Amino acid sequence: MVKKFSAPRGTSDIFPGEARLWQELETRARLRLACYGYNEIRPPFFEETDLFVRSVGQTSDIVQKQMLHLLPQSRAQVADAPHPVLSLRPEGTASVVRAYIQNGMDKKESLSKLFYIGPMFRGERPQKGRLRQFHQIGVEAIGPDSCSPYLDAETIRLALQVLDDMEAGPYRLKLNTLGTVQDKENLSKSLRQRLTTSKKDLCADCQNRFDRNVFRVLDCKNKTCRQIVARLSMDDAHLEPSSRDYYQKVKSALKTLNIAFDEDPSMVRGLDYYTHTVFEICSSALGSQDALGAGGRYNNLVTQLGGPQADAVGFALGLERIMLARKEQEAAGVPPVDVFVISLDETSLASNFQLADILRARDMIVDMSFKTASVKSQMRIANKKGARLVVIAGEDEQRRGVVTLKNMRDGSQRQIARDACAREIKDLL
Ligand code: AMP
Repeated sequence: MVKKFSAPRGTSDIFPGEARLWQELETRARLRLACYGYNEIRPPFFEETDLFVRSVGQTSDIVQKQMLHLLPQSRAQVADAPHPVLSLRPEGTASVVRAYIQNGMDKKESLSKLFYIGPMFRGERPQKGRLRQFHQIGVEAIGPDSCSPYLDAETIRLALQVLDDMEAGPYRLKLNTLGTVQDKENLSKSLRQRLTTSKKDLCADCQNRFDRNVFRVLDCKNKTCRQIVARLSMDDAHLEPSSRDYYQKVKSALKTLNIAFDEDPSMVRGLDYYTHTVFEICSSALGSQDALGAGGRYNNLVTQLGGPQADAVGFALGLERIMLARKEQEAAGVPPVDVFVISLDETSLASNFQLADILRARDMIVDMSFKTASVKSQMRIANKKGARLVVIAGEDEQRRGVVTLKNMRDGSQRQIARDACAREIKDLL
């Protein structure tokens, strides 16, 4: 019998039909990245293991459990080094920062805006949306004294626009700040204090993490650990006033761009290098592995790796997850509704009917209920149809010339002038 080979666990072949879609989506991403002044960098697929240990962090899950090492060339290397010398890259930031330092890019330009598209490798337990070889589109904006809340907001805007260009479907932006290195130190001290009494109930991994890197307890998936973390009632007491101010500015810049977000004070991200802004974009169409992408600011990594003072911010989007989210939407059969219009009473039905027509004339997918059932039951229909926005109006709103606009991604709602609402709604989609 001749042995038959199959692709290694956690990897997949991308066949021609699918590869065409990959190319198409990558082209859309490249166009968008160019609009923001990003240029491509193609670092190697493997690096010295220590580069990842020192950037992603010794206590991170990636370094502890997921690195795929390359076999050492000689026994002497095993004896000399605490880790095998070379590893496949589990993420892109470390390589880009290494290349930035090695090539003295700080002397060539004040802000280097670099993007990469390519495979990453992590020895994770494979499941839907979690592979051992997967692909990321990532960006890094690195430069001396380049720390600005506007750059953070621009980076988040870019991530969302790339996802929109790729038609990755409805998603939710989660936002938090970690503050400076000193703020992070304050937070770990306070977390240790607050977790001391529950330490014995944490999982074995977290008991270990407690002293080495207490932040990892916040990301733990274990049910008991999650319950303990949920009871912590996280606040911003560990932040210096300047860090709070920075975060406020990031949020205001996002608001000026009409970007909805949910604040999640317990989101610390699994990589050690982040400072200040961190974010995650989660798909509403995916199951447990729902993060389409994530990123944040990392102002100390360049110096930590022996480079000059340079601030940085970036993100990485997972291409397989984007493909999955698109498939889930397709499987749902009909495209999700952009706007669902709810009438609170018979009187407002006619004007809402007219409003739906005005919105459709601007190429939005709009639906409405012609029965004035309770708001709750109409909301249920809107949810079923995957509506991104809901417009609610009754007699009272009609008289005052306003409508209530509910954003289904983050649950926020506000009143806007009816006359100008079509443009405002279109901009939000
Ligand atoms: P991270 O580098 O862990 O912040 O991941 C950034 C994005 O890459 C995630 O939001 C996912 O979309 C994707 N990703 C990370 N790990 C995997 C994996 N093992 N398989 C597939 N996609 C992944």
